[in-house]
Amino acid sequence: MARARKEITVVTWLGHEDARTRLAATIASERTAHAYLISGPEGIGKSAVAVEFARLLLCDQPTEKPCGVCPQCAALRTLHHPDLHFVAPSGSPKDSDTPGSETFSKELSKLREKLASDPYVSADLAELSTSESKAARRKSATGSKIRVADSRELLHDAYRKPYQAKRAVYILLNADNMVREAQNALLKLLEEPPTSAILLLTASNLQAVLPTVRSRCQPVKLLAYSAAEIRTALKQAGIEERAAELAGALSGGNMRRAIAFAEMEPEFLEKAAVEFLATSAVLMPDKVQEQVEKLLEDATFLDDAFFELMTLFLSDAAAWTAHVPNPAPHFPSQRDRIAKLSAAYPTANFGKAIEAVDKAASSRAAGYTPSLVLTAMAIDLNRALGPRARA
Ligand SMILES: [Zn+2]
Repeated sequence: MARARKEITVVTWLGHEDARTRLAATIASERTAHAYLISGPEGIGKSAVAVEFARLLLCDQPTEKPCGVCPQCAALRTLHHPDLHFVAPSGSPKDSDTPGSETFSKELSKLREKLASDPYVSADLAELSTSESKAARRKSATGSKIRVADSRELLHDAYRKPYQAKRAVYILLNADNMVREAQNALLKLLEEPPTSAILLLTASNLQAVLPTVRSRCQPVKLLAYSAAEIRTALKQAGIEERAAELAGALSGGNMRRAIAFAEMEPEFLEKAAVEFLATSAVLMPDKVQEQVEKLLEDATFLDDAFFELMTLFLSDAAAWTAHVPNPAPHFPSQRDRIAKLSAAYPTANFGKAIEAVDKAASSRAAGYTPSLVLTAMAIDLNRALGPRARA
């Protein structure tokens, strides 16, 4: 069951046209604010929007796009520009590793390079410097914090004249992970904003940003991507249709998750999930045993995605059987397959089947033995799906 893994590093599609046009217009009309708070769910390219706006703010002759030829644009290609500064979460508040250290600036430098080529990279330095495991990327950030010391450069230098461009830009990634002291220090800066520096904050959890900080920033709200938008973006990055559809459905609107799913080749996961459903439905004990063993060989099958995929399939089947008008299936390309599945099990209760999968996912999360969880799920699924129709 070995699966090839590929790395998708560049997705050029960014979306959020409205917000980007609005930001560009503030430059054209010379009505830029001192600070912006770019918010929205995880994995939707908030950093990418911030970086794109920074390029525009630093360019010598911006139109609705950076000119691409001025010295600022040239330096910004790798995001190593002396007037572009980053602040990002780098460790837990208890970490003794002093920011400003060599490791810290190396990590920030790595982040600049990553961001220059991959708009959906995680802004969490701790996550970047560790193994960057795919499983971790599909889950949310690590709980790293921006400490006062991490933002020292910002707090000390923001009032200085820019080195090279007409202004300086400070991008505070995951500002919702700033410890309270750091937010209070930031608040002082926002109360007396520097004349030639612009602050761009990104945050997934607005509640974690002090209301006093929020109220001093221009809000820029970004929405989660639709599964269709993600599908389009992944296909543009060279992902095959079916893999893009699966990754889009599993992503929950989070492009970073979608990319991680696409990299782990979700067709294999799909095959395993569908086979498991089919075997459970007829419940041949030997077959179930064989499937369980096969799944256990590769533990990644047992993370949430495996169960989620089954749920998505079963809910498509439920909608099909119930003749839901204008159904919005998770897997539009699998219409025929879903129709066959529904026809094969005329007495099936797909709602009950979904419950069986939910129960298994919770038991798995609660730490029950995988083989036990899977075997119990197979029995429950068999009861829910009922006898197969004669061909
Ligand atoms: Zn330029």
